[in-house]
Amino acid sequence: MADMRIIIVGGGIAGLAVALRGSSRDIVVLEASQMNKEVGALISLQPNASKIATKLGLDKYLGGKGPTRDKAFRIYNTDGELQAEIPSTERFGADRLVYHRADLHDALKQAATAIDGLGRPVRIIPSSRVMSCDSESGLVMLENGEHYSGDVIVGADGIHSTMRTIITGPDVSSPKPTGISAYRLLLDMKDVEKSRAFTSIINPREPFTTMVVGYDKRVIMGPGNNASLYGIVALIPDEHMHEASRSDSWTSNGSMKKLLESFAAFPEWILEVFKASGSSPALYQLRDIDPLESWVHGRMILIGDAAHAMLPTQGQGASQSFEDAEALREFLNDIPTPHTQAQIRKSLHDVFEARHERASLIQAYSRQQARPGTDMNRKRVTLNPAEFQEYNCAYEGARVWQAQQSSLKPIHTT
Ligand SMILES: Cc1cc2nc3c(=O)[nH]c(=O)nc-3n(C[C@H](O)[C@H](O)[C@H](O)COP(=O)(O)OP(=O)(O)OC[C@H]3O[C@@H](n4cnc5c(N)ncnc54)[C@H](O)[C@@H]3O)c2cc1C
Repeated sequence: MADMRIIIVGGGIAGLAVALRGSSRDIVVLEASQMNKEVGALISLQPNASKIATKLGLDKYLGGKGPTRDKAFRIYNTDGELQAEIPSTERFGADRLVYHRADLHDALKQAATAIDGLGRPVRIIPSSRVMSCDSESGLVMLENGEHYSGDVIVGADGIHSTMRTIITGPDVSSPKPTGISAYRLLLDMKDVEKSRAFTSIINPREPFTTMVVGYDKRVIMGPGNNASLYGIVALIPDEHMHEASRSDSWTSNGSMKKLLESFAAFPEWILEVFKASGSSPALYQLRDIDPLESWVHGRMILIGDAAHAMLPTQGQGASQSFEDAEALREFLNDIPTPHTQAQIRKSLHDVFEARHERASLIQAYSRQQARPGTDMNRKRVTLNPAEFQEYNCAYEGARVWQAQQSSLKPIHTT
């Protein structure tokens, strides 16, 4: 009996989360990089996605490197006064989980390739940059001249997606600068604890995400890796920066001196923890895309940042990729063996229908959350991350979502 051949372009978080293991499936992941150096950073899965990670049984592949279970989001003004505390979990039936990016990536890779999973192990082929794809015939062409042929092609090649241009053309959907840049630091907990002014206000080992807001700048931070690391992201409008941030690469470096100058209005307890890092911060310009009209073309579907790259202001980028992956698995499971191309195309359209409105709204909410976060005298934080939490986190998978949405739609009578 013919297996369903699935080709996934891109072995990032979305591509590996969707490694759709199942009986009668032959799955190949084509990844441009050598896959041997994930960026050193923490990444979170919100309750809507941590439920999916739990169902995937990821814990088994994490060894002792389990995620930090975040208790709440705490918001401070720059005087160190607590403004709000938003508990993470009980309401949504799952925790917000904080991983080291490399550990999450590695666990997904192992889940895809382990001998003991469902169906055949996935073949991940590094150093395989895809140059083009014929979405009607399913032929995928690599830079090195090789080609692969699939019944389903999943475009999971990130924000600068080549696969997206098959749907939109080359210039239409290129990522736009959002006017905000991000400095990122990953500190050893021991270094954070040397910073007395900081630890007199924040206990960095406690599993809380802390956000300090001052005018249109904000610093988001929290522990990871069994509280051995402390991750910090500092967001700032481009026009208030003391150095040009031109790169949108996650790995380009900024200057500590310029970071301190840019945040000079912030109190010493924050500046002290920046300095505790002892190394240059990563610096990049944040970009996103407008919602696409379609994610599907022939037998190809986009997922993850390729479909809906968004600002990180709600921490939903990776979580939305997990939702895409769950939806794709669910709807492809409807297809009998042997399958027809018509059945595959219908399933891909079902995924798009189930996911597009929600992912597009979360893109829009992420832009809204980027607006200035305090009143004019900087004392009262007006930003409210709880605003969209119910919509984002009370998610139980694509089928339940679809049923909920259709029950909300008005019934037309003629
Ligand atoms: C360092 C870092 C930190 C982040 N932090 C956060 C965070 O805190 N919160 C959050 O919500 N989001 C964060 N994000 C974004 C988040 O990781 C993404 O939104 C999400 O994981 C979706 O990822 P993706 O797999 O679609 O894209 P990516 O993770 O970018 O993966 C795309 C993959 O495709 C490969 N690829 C690209 N082009 C080709 C090609 N032509 N052929 C083959 N392979 C190709 C790339 O090498 C890459 O491995 C972060 C991203 C990075 C990199």
